[in-house]
Amino acid sequence: MTKDTLAWTEAHHLIEWNDGGTTTADNLALACSVHHDMAHYNGWDLRLGPEGRIQWRAPPAIDPDHTWRANHLRTARDPYTLQPNNPDP
Ligand SMILES: [Zn+2]
Repeated sequence: MTKDTLAWTEAHHLIEWNDGGTTTADNLALACSVHHDMAHYNGWDLRLGPEGRIQWRAPPAIDPDHTWRANHLRTARDPYTLQPNNPDP
């Protein structure tokens, strides 16, 4: 992740501060302001997935299966290059 990337992201608490979540790296996910607002106001959920990637879950009105999904096409280390081996079906 570059310094420029950090400039347009906002830190989101995976466990909300009001629910006892800490402001530490293991409880924060970076998102642009549009996606950050989706998490707070539009019913989207975030969590840290088992492989260490942030996963998003759309509200049931958008995804009736309410499935957790990670973006395997981009990585935090290199967010601008699409990764050729996408393990996600
Ligand atoms: Zn937030």
